[in-house]
Amino acid sequence: MTETLTGSAVPADSYDVALYDLDGVVYLGDEPVTHAPAAIQAAAARGLRPLYVTNNSSREPEDIAAQITGFGIPCEPQEIVTSAQSVALLLQDELEPGARVLPVGGQGLRTALSAAGFELVTSAADAPAAVVQGFAPDLGWRDLAEAAYAVGAGARHVATNLDGSIPKERGVAPGNGALVRAVVEATGIEPLASGKPLPAIYHQAADRLGASSPIAVGDRLDTDLEGARAAGMPGLLVLTGVTTARDAVLAPAHQRPSLLALDLRGLFVQHPAPLEVEDGRWGCGAAVARVHDGALELVDDPTGPLGPSDPQRLSGGRARVSLDGWRALCVAAWDAADRGAPLAPEVVPALVVG
Ligand SMILES: [Mg+2]
Repeated sequence: MTETLTGSAVPADSYDVALYDLDGVVYLGDEPVTHAPAAIQAAAARGLRPLYVTNNSSREPEDIAAQITGFGIPCEPQEIVTSAQSVALLLQDELEPGARVLPVGGQGLRTALSAAGFELVTSAADAPAAVVQGFAPDLGWRDLAEAAYAVGAGARHVATNLDGSIPKERGVAPGNGALVRAVVEATGIEPLASGKPLPAIYHQAADRLGASSPIAVGDRLDTDLEGARAAGMPGLLVLTGVTTARDAVLAPAHQRPSLLALDLRGLFVQHPAPLEVEDGRWGCGAAVARVHDGALELVDDPTGPLGPSDPQRLSGGRARVSLDGWRALCVAAWDAADRGAPLAPEVVPALVVG
């Protein structure tokens, strides 16, 4: 099946549960994302119930819910789905009820494992049935060594998520996946993992509310949108976080969004489905794009900044396009890639949308 934009009627009216990513979608550091508080509440009023799905396993749902509420979005702890809860659910299928588990992570992980009925231990000498690794900033070599001793002695190795890096205020730092690799280096045993982009956390979240038509909303291709594809759900990409419009044009098939928006106001507009209007020319709304001679070409974008025009070859530098122009460019580029002629990244310009 071609992984492409699907189009949608107004998402706030078309889906019943939104699985929102947090950082880059709801907030950025200490500030709410522009338009997010109003959009999430207005969407909920129209029947799109929110859940917040995070790979963060160290924080308690109560703390995260309080933070979201502080941004002006009323939020209950039951609306938070963490990778710690996700991995605890997975472990209930793997272990006997009440089995001993060695957590290597933050308080949120310990709470989730206790709530799932496991007995928490602190040492490999306690013969745990599983070691569960989640990120916490105060983890050190002794913690990782304890995990390795337990896994070496036969405990199941489980990870809340495999994010290799986490962006912080001062730069990019090692994430849980990097700490998990340290243990794998010692044991040679690959872990069972949860967290986006693995599909279990999205399925578990949808099950929590009995969703019949959930939609995932995120800012990262390699977690949120890849996870949506893996879970078989539509994924809405917003540009309020780490991903650029250009990144979406270059997205590999398994990370492509189903819907594109600048921000969460995209929940309240129709999303036209791009159509191949002629061989190799893809139209979306009034915009038409194609890949020609190995470069992106905006054949027409009458509502965009360029206005009606002869085909504009987009290469290098920056280009201003309409939202529909961006959609058409994405699908034209994806179609070329699927036909075995992917665009070279260096010919794709930075895109300013809107
Ligand atoms: Mg994010």
